[in-house]
Amino acid sequence: MQQTWHEQAACRGLDPDIFYPVTDEEAESAKDICATCTVRVACLEYALIGREHDGVWGGATERDRRRMVRQRRRTA
Ligand code: SF4
Repeated sequence: MQQTWHEQAACRGLDPDIFYPVTDEEAESAKDICATCTVRVACLEYALIGREHDGVWGGATERDRRRMVRQRRRTA
């Protein structure tokens, strides 16, 4: 049976608070974990398509994702 990307997530079982930092500076721990994650691209796309507002997804903070969405709109 094929695993979903959630099942392969490097953050699986970790404290979710790591991925919901209050400041961008506090997001570094989550970003470091995401950098090692084999499903980072799928996770980021999920957050971009689903317009996830909070937390670090695919190594990107909310601010990072807003920037990505703007860039995509400009190049579309
Ligand atoms: S990219 Fe980051 S937030 Fe997404 S599944 Fe991997 S570790 Fe979790």
